[in-house]
Amino acid sequence: MTRIETVDSVPFNDLYRQYQSLKSEIDNAISSVIAQSAFVRGSQVEQFEESFAALIGVKHCVSCANGTDAIYVALRALGVGPGDEVITTAHTWISTAETISQTGAKVVFCDTQPDSFLMDLEDVARKITPKTKCIIPVHLFGQPVDMNALMPLAKKHNLRIIEDCAQAHLATFRGQQVGTFGDIATYSFYPGKNLGAMGDAGAIVTNDSELADWMALYCRHGGKGDHQLEGINSRMDGIQAAILSVKIPRLEAWTKRRVELAKQYDDALADVSSVVTPALLPERSHVYHLYVIKVENRDAVKDFLTKKGIATVINYPLALPNCKAYAYLGNSAGAFPNATENQGKILSLPIFPEMEDTELDYIVDALKASSAEI
Ligand SMILES: *Cc1c(COP(=O)(O)O)cnc(C)c1O
Repeated sequence: MTRIETVDSVPFNDLYRQYQSLKSEIDNAISSVIAQSAFVRGSQVEQFEESFAALIGVKHCVSCANGTDAIYVALRALGVGPGDEVITTAHTWISTAETISQTGAKVVFCDTQPDSFLMDLEDVARKITPKTKCIIPVHLFGQPVDMNALMPLAKKHNLRIIEDCAQAHLATFRGQQVGTFGDIATYSFYPGKNLGAMGDAGAIVTNDSELADWMALYCRHGGKGDHQLEGINSRMDGIQAAILSVKIPRLEAWTKRRVELAKQYDDALADVSSVVTPALLPERSHVYHLYVIKVENRDAVKDFLTKKGIATVINYPLALPNCKAYAYLGNSAGAFPNATENQGKILSLPIFPEMEDTELDYIVDALKASSAEI
């Protein structure tokens, strides 16, 4: 990999750097799929499912086309449908919510905690009704939700749990991996995720054999000719599976590097009074899919960084209840105070395993300058 000598810009992520570091292995993996013409499912997909289940420490992995389908299929497997309510967080990527509606159930949003951006479990408890069937915690930005508080709450009300782990590969709570607490957990391998394919891909994991069998059947049209049920078409490509299998052995080292970079940001920004660094809650490991700070004058800070060549992203500019897509729910303007306040202050800084210390230093210097100038 080429070392960057003088930094004058930093990309938000650089997938090409990761490819360069694995080029011959990835090229070989792709060639072998082409040689076998195993384009949809096939031996590479089966091998990936086995390795991913082993990596997470679960009995079953059902691969599918993307992380959004993974949530939809998990909800269907748990029998969620019209008349049911499903609680999830107000501030997440829309996949977590749109899939609830796709089943015919009603999306019920809860507010977030101000500094960790995670779902507020007290608000979850308040939103439970006799119609509630399921809760979808999102281990947002890579930090686990407090599963020690959530699981007893779910048990008390006889609710099912689907963990949305799209941003949290290998994160742990009290030493136990996310994805192993609930009934089912879902993963995305969208290229920019901590474990990313070179196209869309996703997976559903569970320790329940019956659920796993049903989900595998459902993802593949409910059968091959002898259809047991009407399903959907959500399958993983052989090429994506082969690429992911090359990357799995690197995930731990990449995660360590993310954590190291986050620590460097935390330390360097600790005395920059205009910047609130992301809260790291106790008893868990954060895998920093995103490093999200809070700043007043967010848009001015973002522009300032852009002028310095630093790419930033806002994840996410509107809490979901404030989006037009959910106006039909009729939530009042002040219903989600923390999520609504955060949407105007959050800013995601570049963080990716191949990022160099000099790039991080450049970003920190720019943030310090912004705090003097804005
Ligand atoms: C990326 C993501 C998804 C969906 O994944 P896709 O593979 O893009 O469909 C779901 N939930 C969260 C929180 C995500 O970040």
